[in-house]
Amino acid sequence: MAVFEDSAFDDHERVIFCRDAATDLKAIIAIHSTALGPAAGGCRLWQYASDDEALHDVLRLSQGMSYKNAMAGLTFGGGKAVILKTKGFAGTDALYEKFGDFVELLNGSYITAEDVGMSVDIMQTIARRTRFVSGLPKKAGQAGGDPSPKTAFGVFNGIEAAVRFKLSRDNVKGLKVAVQGVGNVGYNLCRYLHEAGAKLIVADMNEARVKAACGEFGAEAVTLDEILFQQVDVLSPCALGAILNERTIPKLRAPIVGGAANNQLATLADGQRLSDAGILYAPDYVINGGGIINVASEYHGTEDDDEVMQLIAAIGPRLTQIFEEAASTGRPTNVIADEQARKIIADARR
Ligand code: NAD
Repeated sequence: MAVFEDSAFDDHERVIFCRDAATDLKAIIAIHSTALGPAAGGCRLWQYASDDEALHDVLRLSQGMSYKNAMAGLTFGGGKAVILKTKGFAGTDALYEKFGDFVELLNGSYITAEDVGMSVDIMQTIARRTRFVSGLPKKAGQAGGDPSPKTAFGVFNGIEAAVRFKLSRDNVKGLKVAVQGVGNVGYNLCRYLHEAGAKLIVADMNEARVKAACGEFGAEAVTLDEILFQQVDVLSPCALGAILNERTIPKLRAPIVGGAANNQLATLADGQRLSDAGILYAPDYVINGGGIINVASEYHGTEDDDEVMQLIAAIGPRLTQIFEEAASTGRPTNVIADEQARKIIADARR
């Protein structure tokens, strides 16, 4: 496994390999940057095809967190962890506690929270061993808890901004939105969209989730292979990364892509491909910043949930500014966002 040669390695400050034989824990924590503050970012539980794939993922995701935290205006750097779901993975409390020990050893340079495969319950188990954890159950009147509904709120705001910019529409009423993945974020997003009058098309490998979305929001279900290529106003990827690539982009039939999934572009060139195809892409780490804003607010002990919602509502105007700069310079939105994020981090480093 070559760390420094990995294509996703971007001068990460630290990469920590965590192993505990007794609980069979295998995890990797990547700290991309602490220039703006402690590296904050969730922990993903996933079954990877190889250790190399897990390393690549955590390197990519942690860089994304640096950019996301910078663009959300937070005093946090970027980090991420992955726990490898190995064959026969039991997911015991002892394993999560051990992961908490590793986080604690980093003495606050990495703060963990939920990501794919994790839950508030697991975060509570991790919190038995470390203070450096967020995404814990909400205390009355305080910011915190599962960040997914807040992420969904930010994505909804971002979709509204994109619709205003690209389609000159005030809201999503009557528009069609295809949501790939109706998990923690996707399902909550469907609720916002449904309440605002959008028509939904959904797909998920979890049939119960699909059934629930069809029942509660009147969504239409399509297969996993079809969801990306629906004739809709907005495509909202809320499952996994790298779904926007050389193969899929020519077949997309939505003028707007805006969703929660991290690392949606398989490569940087795919941002250019989307731009060339006339598709407005809401950079993933800007539109999905609601969860981390919530996590940061919780970590800082913010009392007022309304204050958090206001911070998240700023995602729409931030995206509009990126869309405008992209349009006026003829460059892809992802490039504009990356430049802005890198500048914020570089200024902080100086
Ligand atoms: P989740 O695990 O709750 O939901 C993901 C859903 O996608 C699951 O229901 C899963 O069955 C489904 N799925 C997986 N592969 C699929 C495929 N090929 N086609 C259709 N559906 C598929 O995760 P989540 O918390 O909702 O996060 C979704 C995405 O948003 C992830 O990429 C995550 O990194 C990102 N994200 C989440 C948050 C958050 O607050 N949870 C914040 C920022 C970004």
